[in-house]
Amino acid sequence: MPEPVLAVGGLVPFTTIDFPGRLAAVVFCQGCPWRCTYCHNPHLLPRGAGALSWPEVLAWLETRRGLLDGVVFSGGEPLLQRDLPFALADVRALGFATALHTAGIYPERLAAVLPLVDWVGFDVKAPFADYAPIVGCDGGTAARASLELLLAAGVAHEIRCTVPPQLAAAALGRMDAELAGLGVAHLTRQTCRPRASR
Ligand code: SF4
Repeated sequence: MPEPVLAVGGLVPFTTIDFPGRLAAVVFCQGCPWRCTYCHNPHLLPRGAGALSWPEVLAWLETRRGLLDGVVFSGGEPLLQRDLPFALADVRALGFATALHTAGIYPERLAAVLPLVDWVGFDVKAPFADYAPIVGCDGGTAARASLELLLAAGVAHEIRCTVPPQLAAAALGRMDAELAGLGVAHLTRQTCRPRASR
């Protein structure tokens, strides 16, 4: 079987905050179809080959066995990578737990990887009808479908929202009500920090 093709834009070798309860590395996937006004990884948004090949990442992970216990796939939007299921399987085969950071852009692809992940950090952007001004397209329907899949799967998760300044209090109230209606027990709100100039 051919090696998975994964566009890896970068790697953080050690984190204690991106995968709860785990010492982990973060694999940053290259590419995202959305353009959130506050995205802090704009260099990862264009689609492209990435800086590292998947075999290179896998070879490095081999050297981390016994030192780390988890690997996080972040981005960009990791579900843009069609070979993500194979990469997750590779990581599990090395004995690491797996985590995914996603905005729920691709529900069908999320459904395919849920059996392969131990934890999901799911970003909600706004009330589902109000995604366009935040993400640059009408992504709320896909995001809602993805969130429903995640909640139904019973995979450990955190639902979080980076609250941009343009989201008014009334919209936040609608978002909270929508999420509660779907069964979200807790929403972690993060303050939107101004993007540093590069
Ligand atoms: S979905 Fe995430 S990676 Fe994509 S533009 Fe928005 S914040 Fe950036």
